[in-house]
Amino acid sequence: MKIILFDIDGTLIKAGGAGARALNHAVKAMTGHPKACESFQLQGATDKANFENAFRAGAGRKPSKKEMAELTHKYVDRLPLEVAASVKAKNYSKVKGVEKFLAKISGRAGVMIGLGTGNLKNGAFIKLEPSGLMRHFAFGGYGCDSHHRSEVLRKAVERAEKIAGAKIKEREVFVIGDTHRDVEAAKEAGYHSGAVLDGFGDARAIMRSNPEVMAKDFSDMKPWLIWLGLAKDPRGVSRGTYICPDSPIEHAHYGRTGLDLRDIEITMRRLRAAKKKIKGVRVSRR
Ligand SMILES: [Mg+2]
Repeated sequence: MKIILFDIDGTLIKAGGAGARALNHAVKAMTGHPKACESFQLQGATDKANFENAFRAGAGRKPSKKEMAELTHKYVDRLPLEVAASVKAKNYSKVKGVEKFLAKISGRAGVMIGLGTGNLKNGAFIKLEPSGLMRHFAFGGYGCDSHHRSEVLRKAVERAEKIAGAKIKEREVFVIGDTHRDVEAAKEAGYHSGAVLDGFGDARAIMRSNPEVMAKDFSDMKPWLIWLGLAKDPRGVSRGTYICPDSPIEHAHYGRTGLDLRDIEITMRRLRAAKKKIKGVRVSRR
C-alpha cells in the first residue's frame, strides 16, 4: 500500500490570501487589530498555531479556550466569502499540473491519496471547493488534530489504516508539501518527503531541509512518479536498491533521508537498551 499525503496551500492550490483575510477579519472582530496576520509567518504552520499567534498579535496575550473556539468559529464563518472573493478576482489558482497528476495517481490499486494539512478540516474543504480536486481525497490529517505537523501526518495515516483495514509501514507514506516545515514534519514521522518549489515556501530553506524529491510544480510528472515508485527510472535506478549520486530523483547524500536517520535512532536506542541490560547483569552479580 502507498499512502500519498498532500499539503493544501501552495501544493494543491493558491487561495489568494483568503485564509489570512478571514483570520484578520476574525481577530479584528474580537480585538480591534485589523491586520494581525502581518506580524508573523503563516505558511507551513497549523491553523491552531496561526490562530494563537494572530490572537496574541491583536490582544497581546494568549487566547483562552473559549476565545480560541470563538476565533475558530468566526474564521470558518468568514472563509467561504474570502475564497469566493479570491475566485472572483482571479487570485485563486491550482498549482500547475496538479490536476493531471492527481488524475494519474488516483484510482490505482494499492494507492491511497489523502490530505496532510495545517488547515482545520472545515477550512480545508472550503479552500479546496472551487478547485474540484476534493474528489481525489478520501481522508486526511488536519490542523484541528494537532499543533504539530508530524502529528497531523500520523493522524492521516491512522485514518488510512482504518479505511484500508491494514497496518501501514512508515516507508509506504509519501508526503508532498511546499515548505521546509512539511519536509521536516515528514522526516520527523519517518515518512518520505517531496516538495514543490513554486508554492509559498522559501526555496533555500526547502533545499536545506533536504526532501527526497524537489520540483517547481507537477507540470513534469516523471520525477514524482519515479519517486513514488509508480514509473520506472529510464536509467534503470530502482528505489531501495542504491542511490545514484547524479540522479535528480534521490539525494547524493546517501543516508541523509528521514528514513535513514530514523533507522539510526532506532538502532542507537536498541544499543543503549542492550548496554543497560549488560550493566544490570554485572550489578546483580556483585
Ligand atoms: Mg503549504
